[in-house]
Amino acid sequence: MIPAFCLKAGFFMADVRAAIGGHMSIGKPATPSYHPETRLIHAGVLRSQFNETAEALFLTQGFVYDTAEQCEARFNGEDPGFIYSRFSNPNVAMFERRMCELEGAEAARSTATGMAAVTTAMLAPLRAGDHVVAAKAMFGSCRYVVEDLLPRYGIASTLVDGLDLDQWRDAMRPNTRSCFLESPTNPTLDVLDIGAIAAIAHDAGARLIVDNVFATPIWQSPLSLGADVVVYSATKHIDGQGRCLGGVILSSDAFIQEHIHTFLRQTGPSISPFNAWTLTKGLETLAIRVRQQTANAAAIADALAAHPKIARLIYPSRADHPQADLVKKQMRAGSTLIGFEVKGGKAAAFRFLNALKLARISNNLGDARSLVTHPATTTHQRLPIEARAELGIGEGFVRFSAGLEHADDLIDDIDAALETA
Ligand SMILES: *Cc1c(COP(=O)(O)O)cnc(C)c1O
Repeated sequence: MIPAFCLKAGFFMADVRAAIGGHMSIGKPATPSYHPETRLIHAGVLRSQFNETAEALFLTQGFVYDTAEQCEARFNGEDPGFIYSRFSNPNVAMFERRMCELEGAEAARSTATGMAAVTTAMLAPLRAGDHVVAAKAMFGSCRYVVEDLLPRYGIASTLVDGLDLDQWRDAMRPNTRSCFLESPTNPTLDVLDIGAIAAIAHDAGARLIVDNVFATPIWQSPLSLGADVVVYSATKHIDGQGRCLGGVILSSDAFIQEHIHTFLRQTGPSISPFNAWTLTKGLETLAIRVRQQTANAAAIADALAAHPKIARLIYPSRADHPQADLVKKQMRAGSTLIGFEVKGGKAAAFRFLNALKLARISNNLGDARSLVTHPATTTHQRLPIEARAELGIGEGFVRFSAGLEHADDLIDDIDAALETA
C-alpha cells in the first residue's frame, strides 16, 4: 500500500513548512520500512488538486498571496507555503524530500550544480582561521575549492593521501573543522575508509563531508558509516540521461538549518524547478540503471583485466582491487566506472579513444550511454604532471563509465579499439 503521507494534504503542509523557512524539521525518513526502490517512486510527492499521476511542473519564479496579512504571515513563518523559487519551490521540495528518504538523511538542500553543492558544504560552515583536511585524490574542481579558493579567505587546507590513516591523524589541528573525501576516488577508484576517517575527524572535533558521486546512493550510504554530510553532483547518475545539471547536500536537520539554509537562501546558487523535476523523475529509475550499469562495468572489467594492451585495471568489486576487503565492508556493490592504463602512454590512449564506436569521448560520467575520459588532458589537466603521477593518473590512464548498452557490444567495441592502440 502507498503510505498515506504521500497522498494526503497533511504531508504536503508539513513538507511545505519545512521547505519554506526551516521553521519545521523535515524529520526522520517517513518510509523506514520501504526499500530504496519503493522510496525512489513514492517519496516526496506533492500532488496538486488535479490529482495528476506524474509530478506536476511548477515552473514559476514566485507565489502570490490572498491578502497582505497572509503575505506577512508567510514571511514570518506562521503560514506554511512557498515564497520565492530562489529558496524553495514545490519541485525543489519534492526532489529534496525524495533524496532524504533515499539517503536516510533528516534534511537536504539542492543546488544548481554539483560544484555549487560542494562549494556550499565546504564554505558555508567555515570562517577565517578554520582549517580543512581533504584527501588529495578528488575531482579537479573540488580540489580547486580546497586548495586554492578556501585559503584565499583565510581557511587553511591540508591535503593527505586518503588511504593513509596516519596522515589524516597527523593533519588534524585544534582549528580543524571539516574533512572532505571522495570514495571511490576520481579517477583511480581507490576506496577510502569512511568509518575510520569519520572517527579521526570526530576525535578532533571536525565533521566529515563525503562526495558520494562515484559510489551512488544505491551502493554506499556515508551517513550510516559515520559521515556527517553527503554531497552529490545530481548531474551524474541521478539524472543519468545527460540532460540537467544539479547538486544536493544531505545532513542532519541541525547542520542544514545552522549552516546551509541561510547561505543558499541569501546567495542564490538555486536549482531551477525544471531541473529539479527532471532529476526527481531520474530518481524513479536510478536503482535499475545503476544496477545494470554496474553489471556492465563488472563484465567489462573481467573481460579486460588480462588484456595484453592494458597495464593495470582497477575495479572496486574485483578481488585484485587494492582495498578489496574495505569495498566488501562499506559498499553494497562495485561501481559503474572502471579505470585502466593503456600501454603506450598518451598516444596509445588517444588511438584507443578515437577508435571506439559505441563509447563516446566525454568528461562526463554516469550516463545511459557509455562515456570514456582521458583524465590527464581533461578533468585533471589543471594539475602538474608530478601531482598526477602521485595520484596514479598516468598519460595512458582511461576512465570508462559504463552505460546501459548490452555488455557484449561494449566489450566488442573496446576489444576492437584496443587493437589499434
Ligand atoms: C561531476 C562531479 C562534481 C561536480 O558536479 P557538477 O554537477 O558538474 O558541478 C563533483 N564531484 C564529483 C565526484 C563529480 O564527479
